[in-house]
Amino acid sequence: MTNLYPLFSGSSGNCTLVSSSGGAVLVDAGVSCKAIVGALSQISFPPERINGILVTHEHTDHIKGLAVFTKRFRLPVYSSREVLEYLRDGGHVHPDSPLYEIDSPTEVGGMLVTPFDTPHDSVHSLGFRIDTEDGRSIGIATDLGAVTEPVRAGLAGCDLAMLESNYDSAMLQCSAYPYQLKRRISGRRGHLENEECARQLVELAKEGTQRFVLCHLSRENNMPEIAMQTVYAKMAEAGIGAAEFSLQAARRSEPSPAVAL
Ligand SMILES: [Zn+2]
Ligand SMILES: [Zn+2]
Repeated sequence: MTNLYPLFSGSSGNCTLVSSSGGAVLVDAGVSCKAIVGALSQISFPPERINGILVTHEHTDHIKGLAVFTKRFRLPVYSSREVLEYLRDGGHVHPDSPLYEIDSPTEVGGMLVTPFDTPHDSVHSLGFRIDTEDGRSIGIATDLGAVTEPVRAGLAGCDLAMLESNYDSAMLQCSAYPYQLKRRISGRRGHLENEECARQLVELAKEGTQRFVLCHLSRENNMPEIAMQTVYAKMAEAGIGAAEFSLQAARRSEPSPAVAL
């Protein structure tokens, strides 16, 4: 049995657990170690069962708890070379935690993890496709300004796709954010807008993906209902009924319901 547990999601911190019959990985550790351990205990998952941590990129909301978590559990950390250098040089990982550059399919905890590049204002950000030994596949892409070809290819054919649905365009334009920040968010190396996310989910649904999780929703420029409604509307336009797929928006500061595969 493969499960995806969104634990925390958004600019206040990101952390997701993927478990299968053979092992488990954490994707990002962007809240305190205490909060991660608390969330794992809430879902009755012993941290000792985690085999490694995949880090999408070096922004604080993805690595905040990494130093203490790796100190406590000495887990291997996987990311791009540039992100690993940043983590090591900045003391964001415990010195005894092995660091593995991941630039091709790599086995972690019995799962095959395939990284793909995401366009974001990071030193080298990644999304991950995880193929479990149960024969299931999960694609995770967060913090991306656009759905590029590598992202599309990374998510294609997954049983479950977890994709950023960061902001509603109108809400962002009307927000009190300074012009430069609006430009950064909506730029090609910023964050993904609801409509673009929804369009991509329609493409994935047409290719057979049936389970979707929206993540990294902006607190100021989005609402779960709006992001989900955007997906339902785009799916309906494409002739895909709500009964044909499952959809949820990952909660900001507590574990969301697990998605079982
Ligand atoms: Zn982020
Ligand atoms: Zn980021």
